[in-house]
Amino acid sequence: MAEKILVAVAWPYANGPRHLGHVAGFGVPSDIFARYHRLKGNDVLMISGTDEHGTPVSLAADREGVTPKALADRYNRIIGDDLHTLGLSYDIFTRTTTRNHYRVVQDVFKTLYDQGYLLRQTTMGAFSATTGRTLPDRYIEGTCPICGYHEARGDQCDQCGNQLDPADLINPRSKVDGTPPVFRETEHFFLDLPAFAEQLAAWITRQEHWRPNVRTFSLNLLDDLRPRAITRDLDWGVPIPLPEYADRETKRIYVWFDAVIGYLSASIEWARSRGTPDAWREWWQNPQAPHYYFMGKDNIVFHTVIWPAILLGYGNGGEVGGGTGEPLQLPHNVVSSEFLTMEGRKFSSSRGIVIYVNDFLSRYDPDPLRYFLTIAGPENQDADFTWAEFVRRNNDELVANWGNLVNRTLTNVFRNFGQVPQPGPLAPEDVALMEATERGFAAIGTLLEGTKFKAALTEAMRLASQVNFYLSEQEPWKVIKSDRERAATVLYTALRCVDHLKTMMTPFLPFTSQQLHEMLGYDGFIAGPLAFRECTEEDGSTHRVLTGDYAGWVGRWQASDLPIGQVLRKPEPLFKKLDEKVVDEELARYQ
Ligand SMILES: [Zn+2]
Repeated sequence: MAEKILVAVAWPYANGPRHLGHVAGFGVPSDIFARYHRLKGNDVLMISGTDEHGTPVSLAADREGVTPKALADRYNRIIGDDLHTLGLSYDIFTRTTTRNHYRVVQDVFKTLYDQGYLLRQTTMGAFSATTGRTLPDRYIEGTCPICGYHEARGDQCDQCGNQLDPADLINPRSKVDGTPPVFRETEHFFLDLPAFAEQLAAWITRQEHWRPNVRTFSLNLLDDLRPRAITRDLDWGVPIPLPEYADRETKRIYVWFDAVIGYLSASIEWARSRGTPDAWREWWQNPQAPHYYFMGKDNIVFHTVIWPAILLGYGNGGEVGGGTGEPLQLPHNVVSSEFLTMEGRKFSSSRGIVIYVNDFLSRYDPDPLRYFLTIAGPENQDADFTWAEFVRRNNDELVANWGNLVNRTLTNVFRNFGQVPQPGPLAPEDVALMEATERGFAAIGTLLEGTKFKAALTEAMRLASQVNFYLSEQEPWKVIKSDRERAATVLYTALRCVDHLKTMMTPFLPFTSQQLHEMLGYDGFIAGPLAFRECTEEDGSTHRVLTGDYAGWVGRWQASDLPIGQVLRKPEPLFKKLDEKVVDEELARYQ
């Protein structure tokens, strides 16, 4: 029976275009996972959107003289286009400025408040002396009281690593205009995390299938759990749903609190948009539906401690949940990646050390990028993107191994037979090769289910080289001159293996796998197509979401039965060999 699987992908922040580091962490791994499970016949719901509230958006908008919404509109569009071009197969990629999202966030806030999980506390807030508006922690700089570092941030010191409070800094100053901030008392709501400490400890301890670093890190966080502010003095965010705050224009829900609730609100939006408004419950209130979250390692705390605490507090809900059925499900796995650097340096948009996704994809195809980010990306340790390595892996691995196998198999079949040839009697080596390739479905499937993407792709590539080796030994292009039946048998064997490998490669390389699917003479989709759709809300406002129809995919994660006599379409190379001079050109561009 089809399993319901939630693939919850970190929400990219809408204050600029996304660079390769971003999509290496949250994007490509989650899409590989979702595509694999769809091919398995499972019922995947893959959700995300742009995270659009908070100070970085409002400050960037101020600098440009536009409204925060206008800035978010622009980057939502750019980011959505990037993810579409990269082939990330969301069921819904939406945004946090929708009415639906506001309604769900406010319901979660109100429910936690009614249950007594939100505490009111008066704290010293930092405000800009020039504008009177709140200054977020990370926009305050000063000397670290612990190590004396001069450029410590209000939230932490990058030199000694200690967490700080802006009021601790010596000689604090605003990073926006250099003036010292003004500190004054302000009331905020805090999520009572210590109230969940025991439940969280018991739950995390049971998660023995998590990557060890995620589990250990999360358990350590529980040792020092404190209430965490979920409101801010700011005018850009979701309003606080309590009567006494109804006309307080300068107090809003803190962006991190609203962003994690996006996983739930996006699922609800998806269900409504299909005319099945309760369908989200099949994932969220179903203990048999595992939830997988994908993110960079800097976001672990939100997904293993804070979001689970919110879910525990909400239970089966207020207005949105309706108080019936199972409580909302906690994460089954939290798949965090490490960081990607570029040519040995940390990505930094402000210092120009950056490769934007849209810029990259304007010159190169998406599959070679997806290949590189999987085989050489930051899955288990920090990884480095270099142009030399990108060109080498494209040419020596993708083109020389998989691309070459497809090309020589299909070209020889197409030229000599035009269709899947009728094989003669199979020799033991033909049978052995087909069986070895077929075993890839189980081996690679197990690796993918364990979120070991690099190992899975490495295994698929190993199988491709085995088939290449077989072809080089059998030389059907020579044999055909003397023994047409034996050549047909060898090419049939290779073609079957290529067809199996096509399916195994699809989660990683969806664009070229679809192309190969068509060249093999099949119709329909095993991958794609994605589509943008306009959504209209109750008040008539519209927004664009990225979605796709994956239920109609014809591919299945199993050995194919390539019909004999199926007419092939004219083969074209799947990948382009890159000239070595690309390396110098690109390095010059990014200096
Ligand atoms: Zn320090």
